[in-house]
Amino acid sequence: MHYEPHWIELKKRERLFKWLFFLYLPVLGGVMFVMFIFVKLMTDYFFFSCAIIWIAGIVAAGLRCLAWKCPRCAHPFFRLLRPFAKRCSTCGLWKWSLKADVGKYAPLKR
Ligand SMILES: [Zn+2]
Repeated sequence: MHYEPHWIELKKRERLFKWLFFLYLPVLGGVMFVMFIFVKLMTDYFFFSCAIIWIAGIVAAGLRCLAWKCPRCAHPFFRLLRPFAKRCSTCGLWKWSLKADVGKYAPLKR
């Protein structure tokens, strides 16, 4: 069994999270700059509304990554306290491994 389609899905989820995380300050700063320069409008309500919506998006994207299921055992690949794990928290499958036998029967010691 090949896991490549599953890893592509995980990569999409991680990419969305990274984009939202790293573009937070540039986008919000740019919007506030444009509003201040061209519209002469600087409201706290607008800024905080945008910030809360954006942070909620970051949290949702992060939770979506954490909820991703291992392609071999169908349990969550990551744990809440180990979001950057290199192996499945249940069956020990290595992250990005393309074949089923890699890491088979080598569960992680906890
Ligand atoms: Zn697994």
